Amino acid sequence: MADHPCLRCGACCAAFRVAFHWSEAQPHKAEGVPAALATPLRLHELAMRGTDDALKPVRCVALEGSVGAGTSCRIYASRPAPCRELGAAWETGEPSPQCDRARAVHGLPPLTPADWAA
Ligand code: SF4
Ligand code: SF4
Repeated sequence: MADHPCLRCGACCAAFRVAFHWSEAQPHKAEGVPAALATPLRLHELAMRGTDDALKPVRCVALEGSVGAGTSCRIYASRPAPCRELGAAWETGEPSPQCDRARAVHGLPPLTPADWAA
């Protein structure tokens, strides 16, 4: 799809803490999350920088662009598991409460099956 709804959204990259196992990051995984973009979280976990500061609005350091207008992930090929696992609502015919919640945080309506019509 040329106009993928996620490319004009990005809300889930600016709504939740993005935590993942340290083995998904460099230097352990050569093609993993760049070490400079991750911050220690718990014993075996890291978080994407920008998603783990309770005093600031959540925004992953790897997110580029404006939420709700046009966004991209500058480490898309290396993004950690939570980013790969969060499905956009109705992309595969299933709802996605996380997608809906993230969009609501930014005042965006939930996606519908019509958003995926060719
Ligand atoms: S909140 Fe949903 S539509 Fe928006 S970028 Fe994330 S998965 Fe895509
Ligand atoms: S790593 Fe990329 S996909 Fe994951 S939260 Fe950050 S900007 Fe979004």
